[in-house]
Amino acid sequence: MTIKEKILIVEDEANISGFIAAILAANGYDTMTARTGSEAISMITSHCPDLILLDLGLPDMDGAGILQFVREWSTCPIIVVSARNHERDKVAALDAGADDYVVKPFGTSELLARIRTAIRHTRTHLPNGEIAQSGQFRARGLAIDYDKHQVLVDGENVHLTQNEYKLVSLLGKYAGRVLTYDFIIRQLWGPKAKNDNQILRVNMANIRRKIEKNPAQPEYIFTEIGVGYRMIDPD
Ligand code: CA
Repeated sequence: MTIKEKILIVEDEANISGFIAAILAANGYDTMTARTGSEAISMITSHCPDLILLDLGLPDMDGAGILQFVREWSTCPIIVVSARNHERDKVAALDAGADDYVVKPFGTSELLARIRTAIRHTRTHLPNGEIAQSGQFRARGLAIDYDKHQVLVDGENVHLTQNEYKLVSLLGKYAGRVLTYDFIIRQLWGPKAKNDNQILRVNMANIRRKIEKNPAQPEYIFTEIGVGYRMIDPD
C-alpha cells in the first residue's frame, strides 16, 4: 500500500476549496483546508503537508506573506493558485519561492499535472538540495545526455554552445516548471549577473533553431511571455 500524499488547500472561498478537495480526493490524495493565512501557518507547522496549494487573496494576510514564511524553513512544494493573471504577480510568486503558478479558472487535468510535477521534483532532490544531474532526460524526440553534455534530437547531436547547453540542461532539471528569467540568469551566470533578458532571448532563439522543427511553434521549450521558460514534461 502506498502512503497518500497530503495536500493543504489554502483558499478562503468554500466552493473553490470544496471543488479542489473533491478533485484531489478522487485522485488519491489526502487533503486539508485552511481558510485564512493564520490557519494555514498553524497547519503547515503542525502537519507538514507534502504540497501546498496557495491562494494569494486571503482575508487576513496576503498569500505572498505565507510563501515567504514557509520558504524561511521549508522546501515543501507550493503551487500558487490565483485569479491574478498579471506577469508581475507570477514573477513575484515564482521568485519568492513558489514552485509553480496556476491561474483561476483552471482545468482539472492541468492542476493535477502541475501537482505531480511539483511532487516529483521534491522526490528527485538529493539531501544537499541539489538535483541529481546524471543520466538522461527524455521527452519525445528530445534527449539531454547529462554525462556527455550533449543534446540530441531524434538521436542526432545538435551541437549546442556551452551557454545553450547550460540553459537547456537547467530547464531539463526543472522540467514542467516555469523558470523566471531572473532565476535562470542567476543560475547560469551567478548572483551578480546583469539582469538582461536579451542574452537569454538570443540564446533561446539559437536553441530553438537547433532543436525545434518549427521555432515559432515550439514543442519542447515554451515561453511564458513576460515570465520565463518551461521545458516540456519528461516521458
Ligand atoms: Ca481568495
